Amino acid sequence: MPIMVPSVPSAPLGPDVRAHALAAKGFMPSDEGDALHRAALAAGLEVKHPMVEIGSYCGRSTVWLGAAARAVGTVLFAVDHHRGSEENQSGWEHHDPTVVDPRIGKMDTLPTFRATIHDAGLEDVVIAVVGPSPTVARYWTTPLSMLFIDGGHGEEPARLDFEGWAKHVAVGGTLAVHDVFPDPADGGRAPYEQIYLPALRTGLFEETGVTGSLRILRRIP
Ligand code: SAH
Ligand code: MG
Repeated sequence: MPIMVPSVPSAPLGPDVRAHALAAKGFMPSDEGDALHRAALAAGLEVKHPMVEIGSYCGRSTVWLGAAARAVGTVLFAVDHHRGSEENQSGWEHHDPTVVDPRIGKMDTLPTFRATIHDAGLEDVVIAVVGPSPTVARYWTTPLSMLFIDGGHGEEPARLDFEGWAKHVAVGGTLAVHDVFPDPADGGRAPYEQIYLPALRTGLFEETGVTGSLRILRRIP
């Protein structure tokens, strides 16, 4: 069956979809979410492959990406173990006690994620992959139009996400990285040092966009 592609590449994000993104718990500012959506649309129009998000949390960034996947006729695999990053755990800066499973006393963002995706009408295009990103990466072979990395922000998780996933971005596709802070005064350095810089160092990516801490890199031949 032919894939239907809209004739207007920058088809605007419906206000209701955007409202669903903004209503979701999470860490994606609205201007960066809109930029992520535009980058995914452009990548998906150029390259006929699915999209992957590493680190979905409660589905906020996922709505912007999932809407782009729908617009270009592909799907988004949303990879997260849903147990939270270090900084989401109890006692840390970004902890939210409402996303803890009281039975086991561990974080569980999957039910909230599911509700977000359901309410945004994206259940048919957003496919949750629940588990550790490096394990999923080990068995992943499908080329990608769009890869968004926003998972664990420690040195090791960030390095493993770069090593496991960036190689799957097809030529003409896009690698987007969140929480890139070149100045240590602005935030943790791992996404900058372990993902953004190594990607540029390969010579296979060129920077095409900057919005807040979001960096858009295009895979070149
Ligand atoms: N993109 C989200 C925020 C993601 S927060 C938003 O827009 O709000 C980071 C997420 O990465 C958390 O949900 C955490 O569970 C997940 N994560 C961290 N390390 C991971 C790993 N090694 N494998 C899978 N998921 C991981
Ligand atoms: Mg982030």
